[in-house]
Amino acid sequence: MEQFCKTKIIATIGPSSWDEITLREMISNGMDVARINASFADSEELSRVAKSIRDISPRVALMLDTKGYKIRVTGFEDEKVLKNGDTVIVISEEKFSENNIGEKYIPITYSSLHKDISRNTKILLDDGNIVLNVLDIKDDEIHCEIVQGGILKPKKTVNIPNTHLAFPSLSQKDRDDIKFAVDNNFDYVSASYVRSINDVAKVREIMGKSETKLIAKIEDREGIDNFDQIINFVDGVMIARGDMGVEISFEEVPIVQKQIIYKCRSVGKPVIVATQMLESMRENIIPTRAEVSDVANAVMDGCDAVMLSAETSTGKYPAEAIKIMNSIALKVENVLKPQKVEGLTEASMETDVLCNSLLDIVDNLSIKGIVVISQSGKTSQSISRHRLSIPIWEVGNSIQRVRQNSLLRGVKAFFLKDFPKDRDEAVQRAVECVYSYGELDLNDKIAIISGSSIENRSKNSILEISIVRDVIGS
Ligand code: PEP
Repeated sequence: MEQFCKTKIIATIGPSSWDEITLREMISNGMDVARINASFADSEELSRVAKSIRDISPRVALMLDTKGYKIRVTGFEDEKVLKNGDTVIVISEEKFSENNIGEKYIPITYSSLHKDISRNTKILLDDGNIVLNVLDIKDDEIHCEIVQGGILKPKKTVNIPNTHLAFPSLSQKDRDDIKFAVDNNFDYVSASYVRSINDVAKVREIMGKSETKLIAKIEDREGIDNFDQIINFVDGVMIARGDMGVEISFEEVPIVQKQIIYKCRSVGKPVIVATQMLESMRENIIPTRAEVSDVANAVMDGCDAVMLSAETSTGKYPAEAIKIMNSIALKVENVLKPQKVEGLTEASMETDVLCNSLLDIVDNLSIKGIVVISQSGKTSQSISRHRLSIPIWEVGNSIQRVRQNSLLRGVKAFFLKDFPKDRDEAVQRAVECVYSYGELDLNDKIAIISGSSIENRSKNSILEISIVRDVIGS
């Protein structure tokens, strides 16, 4: 049997990977979640890719990543050479086209920057490769000195670190895409540039009462500063290191990565490390040693999932990138000890305490794995956060929950239709289900954790230690 790592793998789907053969290969190499980046996809493309994935596998989770608000330079086609010490004027595209003004001007797609910005603020172009310093603001013109020059190509990004920009957190496209994801039963929406709980509330309002889960992409200083509030209102977090590395100093990103991972684990919410993990594999069939180390360190930091972006959407080796990620994570996981974490999850305190006790039980009793009988998936979250070295087999009666919990580290979720209401019967059926997938031998000792009664869904859990043969009666 193919061996998959406990850390989950998210792959972005694009022109390099959306044909059926490649998708099948990616799934068989260990892709758990397929991400579609709405920055580059219209609704036709979103539907087509989502349908292909669903047709191939009902188990792979679908994530829609919103475009979010990205400011870009605009209004010119030939690249501009920007020299250190020269001055340029940043202006909105509307004013630029109204007045048809010349070479010294850099038009941008945001019309109110002159209102949000102040003197001596840095404007970063092209992911920070070019740096401007604001000298003066004259009406709607922002006069800047070029501090770090370079060649500016059309449509490159504009970032203004440490400045609150008053743009609305959701564009009409974002609204339409979120609605689309919810209507089409996507498992996750990852919302770009979440800066505060107000941003979260706006996304939640569009999502309504849907079962789709919300991931906050943390990518700037405001999101980091407000993280302790944001985490309470979302279902998971993505550390979006691409934009974050421009919005804050890049030396700070590894520290923030560790802090966010720990905070997410302490409340049992999934956390994703994203961007440039195997970047060189866009072109090359093997990664650099530094990239291997980056993936390995993210696994050691205790993330739930690692994410591939351009490597799988436009790169040359999408299926190989997943295979390599899987093998790096497997190697690391084999030498890791469980990582106990403090804090309360959204499960009851009783469940959290019981799940904490599993750390000792598993060690002392040579337990092969843990069967979780779950309606909400919260018990799996409470166990998974400790990053045990044995598998967690969640058995549940919602196919969407099964897909969603495939994002949790160490959790293999199985769907059981017609779940018995009686607890003993449910335990037997759940263990049979895991056994039928070849995960267990009859003589294996397992821990089983379930609600005290499936029927009345009491918050309390029951923990049972059994031999498989005794439960399924073979
Ligand atoms: C990032 O910036 O790291 C990220 C994941 O966002 P996107 O790829 O959507 O720009």
